[in-house]
Amino acid sequence: MAQGIYTDAHQSIRRNLRQFIEREVNPRRRELEDAGQTPRDLWKRMGELGFLGPCYPEEYGGSGADFLTACVITEELSRCAVSGFAMGFMVHAEMATPPIHFMGTDAQRRKWLAPAITGEMVFSLGISEPNAGSDVAAIRTTARRDGDHYVVSGSKCFITNGTICDGVVLAVKTDPAAAPPHAGVSLLVVEKGAPGFKVGRKLEKIGCLASDTSELFFEDCRVPVANRLGGEGEGFVAIMRNFQRERLIAAVGFVAGAEEALEMAIKYARERDAFGKPIHKHQSVRHLLVEMATETELVKTFVQDQCVKFSGSVNDAVAGGEGGEDLTKTISMAKYRAAELTEWITDRALQIHGGWGYMKEFPISQAFLDARAGSIAGGTTEIMKEIIGKYMGL
Ligand SMILES: Cc1cc2nc3c(=O)[nH]c(=O)nc-3n(C[C@H](O)[C@H](O)[C@H](O)COP(=O)(O)OP(=O)(O)OC[C@H]3O[C@@H](n4cnc5c(N)ncnc54)[C@H](O)[C@@H]3O)c2cc1C
Repeated sequence: MAQGIYTDAHQSIRRNLRQFIEREVNPRRRELEDAGQTPRDLWKRMGELGFLGPCYPEEYGGSGADFLTACVITEELSRCAVSGFAMGFMVHAEMATPPIHFMGTDAQRRKWLAPAITGEMVFSLGISEPNAGSDVAAIRTTARRDGDHYVVSGSKCFITNGTICDGVVLAVKTDPAAAPPHAGVSLLVVEKGAPGFKVGRKLEKIGCLASDTSELFFEDCRVPVANRLGGEGEGFVAIMRNFQRERLIAAVGFVAGAEEALEMAIKYARERDAFGKPIHKHQSVRHLLVEMATETELVKTFVQDQCVKFSGSVNDAVAGGEGGEDLTKTISMAKYRAAELTEWITDRALQIHGGWGYMKEFPISQAFLDARAGSIAGGTTEIMKEIIGKYMGL
């Protein structure tokens, strides 16, 4: 049934994904979290079911769906009981492959986007480095032109899908001396197996356990010039453009995570007795749950408003939108506020669980740890505030 901003068709996709997760993913929770990554068979199933990039055009295997379809998928992935199950897919479908679509040639799209949509190829997005995260223009990985190849040297850090990926959309400096520095940034697709491309450590995280996060090394790695997305020096603007979709999708996932944690807290508060009555009958617990529900509803309304405005607008690089207002300021607000909401809700929901909230057997303990990445990954809360401040003329 249609609900809020979502149509019957969106809700039907939601039901299908929920069913898939309940039947084929949640029962494998221990296996995925212990492995620290999501196995290929689930990537292929996600592709078969049409959940890896439905917004891309049909000619590349997508279904030309609207942005709200991606939102519904994000919400359901974010409710999965497996810690971090959503992260790898969201990075692949909503962060790494969009530049291939909006910057790539038809041949590049057929080579990389089409198999990414079926789940045959997994992609990562390599921007952050050991010494440059927030300050994207300060990256040090270089790509020196040598005939019809680039010679790439440097390293990347915190790369989601880094271990399992078949290709990385890599931010490099093709002109390290460019002024301003961001004018020297370009994007290359580097495929696994390229000489000199090595995967380093799989980093051990406290949350998002079923998603792998790795170091990548490039030692005189030869990459064909034909693997460049767009022109030399166009990488930084593309990354900033891509951030709008990525950050809004992230905000949608955070709100879904907050709702899930709130439900856990309400269920526990009804079941747990203290001083002769269920704990939700104690006014401070009841009021806390009311505050949690109110804040979640407020942030959800704001985030959904952005989603409706975003669909097909100038901000939506995947849809190639040209109209509508620039949403950079309000998407930055949505990303920072939704991330902090989820952190607060999971923290308070854990508190309502008392001692059991601190025990691994209660899912709220893992949800609390998973939520903590929200105000760091994809642009920190502080950087979101810097962007908002700039738009406010401060
Ligand atoms: C789970 C996870 C997955 C990730 N996946 C990816 C991925 O797939 N690809 C990828 O490229 N990166 C990925 N990242 C990296 C992520 O984008 C960076 O961690 C993030 O951008 C912050 O960069 P940093 O860690 O270098 O912190 P820094 O930039 O060193 O920042 C450290 C602290 O200083 C603050 N700070 C920095 N500059 C300012 C400023 N101007 N004003 C105020 N405060 C400031 C920051 O807000 C932060 O609190 C991932 C990170 C995590 C945790």
